[in-house]
Amino acid sequence: MSGINSGFDMERYAIAVDLDGTLAEYHGWKGIDHIGSPIPAMVEKVHKAASAGHQIYIFTARLADESKVDKTSIEKYIWQWLKIHNIPCNGITCIKHKFFKEFWDDRAKGVVPNTGEFLHESLGCDPAYYRDELEVESSLDVQIGGDHYSKLLIQPAEYAEYNNLPSLEGAVIKYITRHQDKNGIQDLEKAKDLINMIIDMRYLEKGKNSLLKRLEGSKK
Ligand SMILES: [Mg+2]
Repeated sequence: MSGINSGFDMERYAIAVDLDGTLAEYHGWKGIDHIGSPIPAMVEKVHKAASAGHQIYIFTARLADESKVDKTSIEKYIWQWLKIHNIPCNGITCIKHKFFKEFWDDRAKGVVPNTGEFLHESLGCDPAYYRDELEVESSLDVQIGGDHYSKLLIQPAEYAEYNNLPSLEGAVIKYITRHQDKNGIQDLEKAKDLINMIIDMRYLEKGKNSLLKRLEGSKK
């Protein structure tokens, strides 16, 4: 048994590294006695962290398996795998210990502390990494009619969605982004129109209530 706390030194920084899909290739469950090939880039990161004096823990749901499989043999198999591939490790666990400072996990979503915000959203990254269906072509990779959006790093629809922009603002961004590749001045004019609508409806008294007034008028 590894004895999770036996090698733990409170002075040292502890990193919990997931196994399947993070440190080892994972392409679907093939049994407790199968661990995929090590992922070189992650193995390198683990070596780097260990040589910097950090503790490395394998943090894996394999040990949380509710079936009757003997936990000791599961752990033994992981230790063997680590040894064969010369990967440093201070312990194997499925417990989220409070001394873990970092979690490296292919399924984790980073969260900005005390905000309720996902890190990928505040950084404006594509959250596609987190989808289960990674093989499925993202709808954002497909564009009907032209390629002026799909060639962008961040598409207007993604930007609007992840920043919770109302539809008018989203449409302004769309026209501003595409005018050079699509309808030129016409797109810029549309953006201008939409901006004027936002000013009218959100900031000017006459515009703010115009819809309500119209609706009331139609009732009479
Ligand atoms: Mg994983």
